[in-house]
Amino acid sequence: MKTLLLSLCLGVTSIGSFLLANDTVSNNSTPKNPIKVVILLGPPGSGKGTQAVRLTKELGIPHISTGDLFRENISQNTDLGKRAKAFMNEGKLVPDELVLDMLFDRVSRSDCAKGYLLDGFPRTLPQAGALNKHLAADTDLIVLNLDVPDSVIVKRAEGRLTCKVCGNVHNRYFSPPEKEGVCDACQGELIQRPDDRTEVVQERLRVYHEQTQPLVEYYKKKGVLKTVDGTKSPDDVFLSLKAGLKSS
Ligand code: AMP
Repeated sequence: MKTLLLSLCLGVTSIGSFLLANDTVSNNSTPKNPIKVVILLGPPGSGKGTQAVRLTKELGIPHISTGDLFRENISQNTDLGKRAKAFMNEGKLVPDELVLDMLFDRVSRSDCAKGYLLDGFPRTLPQAGALNKHLAADTDLIVLNLDVPDSVIVKRAEGRLTCKVCGNVHNRYFSPPEKEGVCDACQGELIQRPDDRTEVVQERLRVYHEQTQPLVEYYKKKGVLKTVDGTKSPDDVFLSLKAGLKSS
């Protein structure tokens, strides 16, 4: 009888510790899959957009770019677009209160249920704090940081051509389109974004160092940061990023 009681107690204890150790197990014993959130960090023009497209294909999760969301709002002439436009054209950050609702609304849609890749968000410590609160504790979070010096950024921005239709990025020095002014991917018109003008790029770099670079330390302390050399060719950078994802 004593032995039977003891085994029952041990059984209950081990089930308890299993449940404590596995907070992904819900009340009805269905294991939850933690969602995967990848943050792409790096100065403006470091290649985040290009790499985001490749990474999201590789991972099968949507690419959420706050810059693209603002540009969509601007082209649709929404209230949010009108308010964001002036900040963007001057190379300033759009105030957090305009960014946060837009972003959290976007990532609450069903296509983000299994995970998503963030490009251009967070850009300030308060944004990172808000994201942290928004994410479930068991989120599989990884931050990939593209390291590129300012001199390279300025040169790249001068040559950067963005497709008005699909957002695909070419560069007149490093990856020119087959036909001048025309996007290889969708035949849309290629333009220089107003925020790629040199004086705007310099202002964006100043803002980056002041407000966004502290996030590198923030995520390093959380133990989720992988930094890769972003000056290499897009293919090499992609390989390093994939290696960073695997080693996380
Ligand atoms: P991007 O396409 O990511 O380079 O963003 C273009 C511009 O949109 C930035 O220079 C900012 O003015 C604005 N923007 C994009 N994301 C954010 C953000 N997370 N916080 C504040 N402003 C942003």
